[in-house]
Amino acid sequence: MDGVRPAPMTGPLAPRLSPDSPLVASARELVVRHRDTVADDRCGWCADVYPCPPTIHAALVCLAAGLDPHAIGLPPEAAGWQLTA
Ligand SMILES: [Zn+2]
Repeated sequence: MDGVRPAPMTGPLAPRLSPDSPLVASARELVVRHRDTVADDRCGWCADVYPCPPTIHAALVCLAAGLDPHAIGLPPEAAGWQLTA
């Protein structure tokens, strides 16, 4: 059986999410919660180097909804964040 190719996270074929959806609202809350605990470039929730994986994943959800990274408190480079294996 052939594998299923997942939809790309960015670009014209990426799924479009509603900025007002509960999924996107939760992702925005997660971004804020983790960002607000950053000290010495580490996330206080994850104890991981910031941006921590949950922040990157939540940011991708926000970007798929067309939100501006700066407007939700993300650094400008968030526009280029990618999923890592
Ligand atoms: Zn974190």
